[in-house]
Amino acid sequence: MSAITIGITPRNRAVNDRIGPKEHLSHLRIPLLVDLPIGQTLYDHIGFPGLILNTNIATEVVTKLLNTKDLTNWYKHTTGPLTSLDGFKALGYININSSNEKKGYRMIHYGNYFTDPEEQDTKTLIAGIRLIIKLIEGSEAFKKYNTHLERKLFLGCEHFEFDSDDYWKCALQFMATTLYHQTSTCKMGPADDSTSVVNHELRVYGIGNLRVADSSIIPVTLSAHTSAPTIMVGEKASDLIKKFWGVL
Ligand SMILES: Cc1cc2nc3c(=O)[nH]c(=O)nc-3n(C[C@H](O)[C@H](O)[C@H](O)COP(=O)(O)OP(=O)(O)OC[C@H]3O[C@@H](n4cnc5c(N)ncnc54)[C@H](O)[C@@H]3O)c2cc1C
Repeated sequence: MSAITIGITPRNRAVNDRIGPKEHLSHLRIPLLVDLPIGQTLYDHIGFPGLILNTNIATEVVTKLLNTKDLTNWYKHTTGPLTSLDGFKALGYININSSNEKKGYRMIHYGNYFTDPEEQDTKTLIAGIRLIIKLIEGSEAFKKYNTHLERKLFLGCEHFEFDSDDYWKCALQFMATTLYHQTSTCKMGPADDSTSVVNHELRVYGIGNLRVADSSIIPVTLSAHTSAPTIMVGEKASDLIKKFWGVL
């Protein structure tokens, strides 16, 4: 099964295969085959596309970032402009809303963004925003192009002082958005971890011949985009299957 973290993989497990959290399946009157915490661990990344920079030139940033020096720094020393912030702390979950295939059923996605008790996600994003502002206002590279931050206040946040923590908290509530990097709803982990769904060979616990090979098995949130790691999961899965059948 290889059909994505927040969509078909958990939904099929629940409705077609009757594998999922016991309480939730019984609530939907789906007979239970195996009790597993599918959908109960959900990580995501959120971004803040709210910093608008004005410059005196038309510029294209991405191609300038992708140079050998920055790539080498990121790969060898995990430093430089290609380095990303830590993964997010808040934990979400997904459920299905019904077992009735004919009437149609949907995944209900509870992102729970910014709900970690220590407010680490909020603090990390605010630190990131301030770092960007510092770079814009303090570095010659930006000054050369007369770069400045658009300071027009976000609607609904005007009553906060610009650049105060409360101002950015308000702006984040208003504009932070998912990067669609959901992972971990069929999390890989050891048998004695009650949140695990698949083992180290991607086999679903309690089911002999079912493997999951997509972004849903990634055990914890990543400090990176999710596409390349998911391709690695697929490659590993194909090796495991070939090995099992004696062709590797
Ligand atoms: C808008 C958007 C932008 C993104 N941008 C980036 C980015 O810039 N960089 C990055 O690294 N990641 C990005 N991601 C995240 C990345 O695309 C995902 O993490 C990655 O594709 C997950 O891989 P997957 O195999 O789990 O799921 P998918 O890539 O979604 O693959 C699931 C496959 O299962 C198929 N499928 C579903 N149901 C069935 C069924 N019943 N029968 C048969 N086939 C089925 C689907 O058609 C699909 O091909 C983005 C995601 C989105 C949504």
